[in-house]
Amino acid sequence: MKLDDTLQYVKGVGPKRAEMLERSGFKTVEDLLYHLPFRYEDRRKIVRIRDVRPGDDATLVGRISAVRDIPMRRRRRGSMLQAVFSDESGKLGLVWFHQAGFFKKKLEEANLWLVHGRIEAARRGGWQIVHPEVEALDEDLDDEESDEREVGAEERKGHDGTPAAPRASAASAAKIVPVYQKPTDLPVAAMRKIVAGAVESSAHLAKSVVPPTIRKKLDLLPLDRALHEVHFPSNDIDAAALVAFATPSHRTLIFEELFALQVGMMLRRIARKKIPGIAMPPAPKRVAEFFAALPFKPTKAQIRVIGEISADMAASLPMNRLVHGDVGSGKTLVAFAAALQAMAAGHQVAVMAPTELLAEQHFRNMAEWAESLGVRISLLTGSLRAGAAKDARAKLAAGDMDLVVGTHALVQETTEFAKLGLAVIDEQHRFGVMQRAALRGPTTDTLMLTATPIPRTLSLTLFGDLDVSFLDEMPPGRVPVSTRVLRPSQRERLHERMALQMKAGRQCYIVYPLIEESEVSDLADATSAAESLQKGAFKGFRVGLLHGRMKADEKDAVMRRFKAGEIHALVATTVIEVGIDVPNATIMVVEHAERFGLAQLHQLRGRVGRGGGESFCCLVASEEQSPDAIERLRVLEETTDGFAVAEADLRIRGPGEYLGTRQAGVPAFRAANLVRDAELLEVARREAEAWLARDQELARPESGELRRAIERRWGEKLALAEVG
Ligand code: ADP
Ligand code: MG
Repeated sequence: MKLDDTLQYVKGVGPKRAEMLERSGFKTVEDLLYHLPFRYEDRRKIVRIRDVRPGDDATLVGRISAVRDIPMRRRRRGSMLQAVFSDESGKLGLVWFHQAGFFKKKLEEANLWLVHGRIEAARRGGWQIVHPEVEALDEDLDDEESDEREVGAEERKGHDGTPAAPRASAASAAKIVPVYQKPTDLPVAAMRKIVAGAVESSAHLAKSVVPPTIRKKLDLLPLDRALHEVHFPSNDIDAAALVAFATPSHRTLIFEELFALQVGMMLRRIARKKIPGIAMPPAPKRVAEFFAALPFKPTKAQIRVIGEISADMAASLPMNRLVHGDVGSGKTLVAFAAALQAMAAGHQVAVMAPTELLAEQHFRNMAEWAESLGVRISLLTGSLRAGAAKDARAKLAAGDMDLVVGTHALVQETTEFAKLGLAVIDEQHRFGVMQRAALRGPTTDTLMLTATPIPRTLSLTLFGDLDVSFLDEMPPGRVPVSTRVLRPSQRERLHERMALQMKAGRQCYIVYPLIEESEVSDLADATSAAESLQKGAFKGFRVGLLHGRMKADEKDAVMRRFKAGEIHALVATTVIEVGIDVPNATIMVVEHAERFGLAQLHQLRGRVGRGGGESFCCLVASEEQSPDAIERLRVLEETTDGFAVAEADLRIRGPGEYLGTRQAGVPAFRAANLVRDAELLEVARREAEAWLARDQELARPESGELRRAIERRWGEKLALAEVG
């Protein structure tokens, strides 16, 4: 047996099941071994029918009789299966709506059964369990293991032709039972048997990647024991710890995984730092000139972060720094100061933004700063006229252009730089790993900016290989945006309030979600809203419309008019999500707010409250939405701290959803859960750091398994890190 054996070798898996499992992503024995229960059922206490009440999750032992197949009138196919279950204290009904045939046959297998499920009141009186779990018990067998039992199992054929598992006695069946996520067609009990087979045959083959000294220090269990126990907890286990996935066995498996991840991240970071980069000395004079020309003073945080970046750039190693800063914290200025340092050293700078609108805004801001400083700057986006794009590219290649701001058009093959020294990537999580790698050469300094507050746990796992700066101070004059969750019935009053603000010279946004499959109808939503507002509540004001289907120059024209105050209310789909800056706007209304993630709503909210006036964010959520959705939105009423919002969002939606499907590189965990295991992640990080300080090459014998595991799992990504 080997861990990478295919599933046919596992007990209870025939070719059909192997195929089914494979379709669900289980390819090897190891995959099964690390397919941990997602919950447990406590069947330690066998109760009598007399003592149960509706709502109880009960484990009962008794006999099954009067099994009846009842064809279902409503559905053309299939039938319902009913049976009577009784013990010496009473009886209740058992009901199956699916797989009636399967269970009918199965129920012929034994007389005595252990039954587990939720008790409910039956419509015709009495109690019942719908879709109970049933386990055949052997009447004559006592608790002890016996050879006889094994032989018995060989002889007895199960209903599906495979040998039936040995039956347990009532006493040995009364235990804590793991529940697994399974391919949809597979009965729960079958999945349990399959995993059990894998654990029995192969758990001893699993090798720990954590060096023995660390294992000892943290009281980790031997890996095979941990695997046995998470799958088949002993009866004296601490049930509360089990439910919380916090038993020593769980901790062992989670730590194994997080430790390897952290070591991998750190090695990637170390690998990058081995490549010689470009040393670009600080340019304090240029930066001072820049600051002097600004109408405001940089914040302390901006100055600190500029210093951190400057030190990286001055070193002869490639910079890989991520600047985290809430919407409006002033990242553009920080990026421009970094650009000045690169240009002073005779290098070119590229700034890449995820949308044309954003690239254009950066360009406008930077062009204003560039002019007085004698910096040659150009824009490069997909929608630029061919002639203009060609001209910009020619100048970049010839070294006649210092700074270029653009979209992913920048990473197209035809763009060449004479001497690229710094790549700035705005909203970096919106680009794939490959696009990021394409912009920065192996030696280029890379500065990544993000306004998506990323909780530390996620940041450690996603960006553990980067240096991180926090722009944790807002420029003065920002007033917290007061936020309200509203019902559609309150919309009319909201519109009145907006009209008042506009009369006072303020502007507002109304944002509609854009869902890709139904882009057309959402667009219709926004369009008709704009029309009816113009004719109705906002008569006398100018209502503008902005959506993703408009051409770049049309969008640009609308934005320009909004910025200039010619448009008072801007109805938009989420194209305005990132980076748009109109200080005079004071109300942000989000329609269908329940369709957005909290972090995204927080970003939208950041569009207002920029001009010093009191600002509002109104989240309109439809009544028919679940109370949960409304509750979720209340987080935004309670806090304006982007990181608190991010934590909540991560908790609610999970790491995969949190950053959206575009996010590349959120690792899929087998045991760990970033929300639940934040603390263990910190421990793993500390230990990984300490271990690498002693054995950076993973050359010690105790690092052997670790090195093999990392090469196996990270080989490709580490290679990618080395080139970019
Ligand atoms: P973000 O971090 O969201 O990208 P921006 O760089 O777009 O923020 O800055 C938002 C606005 O704040 C811009 O209008 C910018 O000019 C202004 N700003 C930046 N830094 C300061 C500061 N120190 N004091 C006042 N205003 C600032
Ligand atoms: Mg920005």
